[in-house]
Amino acid sequence: MENNEGLISRIFVSQIKKQNSMSFSDLGISPFLLKALATQNYTEPYPIQREAIPAILQKKDVLGIAQTGSGKTASYVLPILTNLQGAILSKNRHVNVLVLVPTRELAVQVREVFHSFSLVLPDRIKSMAVFGGVSINPQMMALQGVNVLIATPGRLLELIESNAVHLSDIETLVLDEADKMLNLGFKEEVNSILAMLPKKRQNLLFSATLSKNINDITQLHLRDPLVIKIDDGESDAENIDLITQTAYLVFEDKKGPLLRYLIKSKGMKQVLVFTSSTYKADNVADKLRKNGIEAVAIHSKKSQGARTDALQQFKSGAVTVLVATDLISRGIDIKFLPFVINYELPRSPKDYVHRIGRTGRAESPGEAISFVTHEDVHHFNVIQKKMGKKVEMTEVSGSDIKF
Ligand code: AMP
Repeated sequence: MENNEGLISRIFVSQIKKQNSMSFSDLGISPFLLKALATQNYTEPYPIQREAIPAILQKKDVLGIAQTGSGKTASYVLPILTNLQGAILSKNRHVNVLVLVPTRELAVQVREVFHSFSLVLPDRIKSMAVFGGVSINPQMMALQGVNVLIATPGRLLELIESNAVHLSDIETLVLDEADKMLNLGFKEEVNSILAMLPKKRQNLLFSATLSKNINDITQLHLRDPLVIKIDDGESDAENIDLITQTAYLVFEDKKGPLLRYLIKSKGMKQVLVFTSSTYKADNVADKLRKNGIEAVAIHSKKSQGARTDALQQFKSGAVTVLVATDLISRGIDIKFLPFVINYELPRSPKDYVHRIGRTGRAESPGEAISFVTHEDVHHFNVIQKKMGKKVEMTEVSGSDIKF
């Protein structure tokens, strides 16, 4: 055992290059899952999967430094489900596997991956997502017989206090998007939860960055972990190359008409629009609807029900535009999203990359369009410099935009 400080200072990073020779069947996962992978169009393992799956199958601890979009979810779901086959499963309200996530949306998404793969397995594995913002009673009742629990920290603590769930049988702990969990202020909650887990367990930690604040999770003691780093530069650059980026130099009051013009002239059927504030997100969605374009907003001030509905409507194609704040720029996976529009630029260049990374994912092409005001020009230059890529900018005057 060692503390995380020690771990970070002597970290060995395995840089993973693309090797095309390996297939999922070489990795040791359940043959039932292999069939499911084929039907879900997972043709070959992504780099993080090639590294993490064999280690997790051997019950090793893993520290994965990887972004959403790298395939990290399947890299732990597949071996965890394989390990649970034939294992003695916990009963009643004792769960075997705990996945801690920072947001409700990620909880639902990770649960979907567990659920879809567990459907093909002979041993029934029950998975469930719990999160705050919705009534606790139905969750308390449904927790009976759950084997894999995906939870946000606050709600999990409430459920533990109500004796609705017990953590004494946990064999594997996953901390997904650990950096985000800490950024959102969940340090105390995470440490309290970890202190309740059996000391002997497998730990899988995934984080987009390996910042020093990972050390704030004092209750996490990784045991000789396999450290996998999907290099930012490598994965993002690969992804960014798939994305066509353009920018429009536009006055603030012309952004609304420009957005409508682009949606119509490019025949956009599904577009994710980013704003910087919740107020603006609502405002942009309202204006689009008034102009006959189906749009919904998603942000932290919406109720959980409204957030789930908005995402569902967008994913199903019922609405054309999802207007979002940075709350969902990370962690939410929407397959084959063709367009992302930055109605307002994000403050940090990193967030810019995260935002535009919602398109051009899983090796499908996408287009990212940024609205840049005259005041934003300097900031946009900084973003381009950090990203190492120049984005062509077209100046828009009011008379260019016609309806
Ligand atoms: P994640 O990083 O876990 O959010 O996954 C990103 C996206 O990649 C999801 O839509 C996955 O379904 C997809 N995906 C993950 N692994 C593979 C794979 N080996 N082949 C094809 N798609 C994958």
